[in-house]
Amino acid sequence: MGTQEMTSSLWDRVVSCCCCCCNSCKKEQEEKPDQNKTITVLRNPMTRGPEDPPENRPLPSPPKSERYIALFDYAARTENDLTFNTGDLLEVLDTSAGEWWIARAVTGISIDKRGYIPANYVAPVESIDAEPWYFPDTKRLDAEKLLQAEGNLEGAFLVRNSESLKGEYSLSVLHQGRVKHYKLQKLDNGHYYVSKTKSFPTLKELVEYYSRQSDGLCVLLGEPCRKMEAPQTYGLSYNTVDQWEIPRNSIKLMDKLGAGQFGEVYKGMWNETTEVAVKTLKPGTMDPEDFLAEAQLMKRLRHPKLIQLYAVCTMEEPIYIITELMKHGSLLEYLRKDKGNNLRIQDQIEMAAQIASGMAYLEQQNYIHRDLAARNVLVGENNICKVADFGLARVFMKESESVYEARDGGKFPVKWTAPEAIHNNKFSIKSDVWSFGILLYEIMTFGQMPYPTMTNIQAVQWLSRGNRLACPPRCPKPMHLLMMDCWNEKELDRPTFETLQWQLEDYFDMDMNSYDESYRY
Ligand code: AMP
Repeated sequence: MGTQEMTSSLWDRVVSCCCCCCNSCKKEQEEKPDQNKTITVLRNPMTRGPEDPPENRPLPSPPKSERYIALFDYAARTENDLTFNTGDLLEVLDTSAGEWWIARAVTGISIDKRGYIPANYVAPVESIDAEPWYFPDTKRLDAEKLLQAEGNLEGAFLVRNSESLKGEYSLSVLHQGRVKHYKLQKLDNGHYYVSKTKSFPTLKELVEYYSRQSDGLCVLLGEPCRKMEAPQTYGLSYNTVDQWEIPRNSIKLMDKLGAGQFGEVYKGMWNETTEVAVKTLKPGTMDPEDFLAEAQLMKRLRHPKLIQLYAVCTMEEPIYIITELMKHGSLLEYLRKDKGNNLRIQDQIEMAAQIASGMAYLEQQNYIHRDLAARNVLVGENNICKVADFGLARVFMKESESVYEARDGGKFPVKWTAPEAIHNNKFSIKSDVWSFGILLYEIMTFGQMPYPTMTNIQAVQWLSRGNRLACPPRCPKPMHLLMMDCWNEKELDRPTFETLQWQLEDYFDMDMNSYDESYRY
């Protein structure tokens, strides 16, 4: 990197520079991993021979067979996978491959066949994880949303891990359209109870008891809550986990979902079985080696609120980036389309909480997004939000005249960028927190452009005089205070994403009224 680039800040470039040839300014703040090593691995992804099908593969360790039950339906995506349905029994033969196991179907449509299965779709028979009513990592608000979703009847219920007490559980029950929560407390002998007068050695026995009589619960337990959707698998299949350069001809491009200066996004079909999103990058958009190094980092980031990077095609141009497909596209378009007609304040805050949760994970992983904005969040079924394009800002910047300022070949979203990043190129998780404040503003205004009457330069100057965006119309004051926290001049005075996450999750207060306390003695 040249001295001039080292000393000139992004702000200098906002106000002075207009050339379009350099990308390096975006890279200097972060420690980089050993990229050469990474690239070698990525450049030779096909060196492993084709996988032996599991039928012929010698099992690496003496198989300790164990019976598992399928928690979700799974349709085979390759000829070496097993198709199964919820409730099918599977004998797991080999778990050595990590997230994809080899199993034999004991019941169901694949009976007696052997093949790969996604490990997160099954649970050991007789374990609590195998119970259809156990929703382990479900938060109180999510439990309410799940139980109030279509298809659940009076008495529908689930048991989840308690948010406040490690190792304890809560029972959430649908009654007259509302959800009641009960703490399942533990006695010294390990027995569970709702009421101390009646305790049970296992949760299963507790559930069975209250399915026969309500005995003080608001309602008799009915059917377990319906599961919304199967979780993402780890990678597309067993052999794309570490061999994630995939043949281009395994991808069929279908409908175009969007387009930008740097390429187009399509709905695609992988292996004629699996829907994916395919980002095609116009040749010359970025240095492929930069991209591959970054992609290697991005691939290890896995969280339910982050878009999963599945695979890449980089052997020839255009480069394809293959990710999970999100039904409703970008949050910005989603908000602008809705204009407040369907989305309620609860939905807006819940969406913000989901984004904070994805960002809290990046924070924990010491990873910086650099381009957090509503345009880079994607929306799926039931307002599910996932953060996308993390890390890509380091390898390129998208063109959108009103948003990204083109300077030195680097383009950056001035109105979303923290002052220290603009003036001193200082990108950190705290500059992401600043951007999150702007993203909250976008959510609360249904996708309005921040500082709508100002140019980029005017906005930066206005901010440097200590001004901040005012509370948008119909935005609750506490939400604006949260934004203001994110826009603290001093980075260290800005909250962490972890704090933002719980503040948003608890926004409607951890109202103890929704826990039925009538059983407290
Ligand atoms: P981008 O080039 O990332 O800004 O994407 C352009 C548009 O394509 C976005 O505004 C979305 O509407 C759509 N899009 C991008 N990625 C996905 C995805 N994974 N699933 C669904 N739609 C997407």
